[in-house]
Amino acid sequence: MKCPFCNADDTSVIDSRASEEGDRIRRRRRCLTCDKRFTTYETVELRMPQVVKQDGNRAEFDREKLLTSFMRALHKRPVPTGDVDAAIDRIVQKLLSLGEREIPSRKIGEMVMEELYRLDKVAYIRFASVYRSFQDAHDFHSVIKELQRPQRSKEPKKS
Ligand SMILES: [Zn+2]
Repeated sequence: MKCPFCNADDTSVIDSRASEEGDRIRRRRRCLTCDKRFTTYETVELRMPQVVKQDGNRAEFDREKLLTSFMRALHKRPVPTGDVDAAIDRIVQKLLSLGEREIPSRKIGEMVMEELYRLDKVAYIRFASVYRSFQDAHDFHSVIKELQRPQRSKEPKKS
């Protein structure tokens, strides 16, 4: 940390303590060149990554938009709103924990598919059919096949 008075590179920390909430660290520093003192604060930066769209344009992450996608896919499906909120929360947490500055919209689409797959298979197919736009019938076929695979159960098989 450079000294704000003389621009020297060498400063030493003489005291550091966390704020009462624990979300900020305050450091008292002393410049080794001019001996002046100053304070710095350290905070966690949690920022949603910018969404990079298919055409290369950037957009702010928009929770409302994500909710709209979910609601469209889940139209008239028996899925509680609370479950949808929880699914979106999980996606937001995942995006934050990536710590990336940018994320391709395709990646978010995959996260939505993952959540819809857990929530409701019909909604999953609806979303996937639009999202992947099923360029050939084979795509659609493989999704259906995926759904028809017997669910792996955690219980040991009875013999
Ligand atoms: Zn200085």
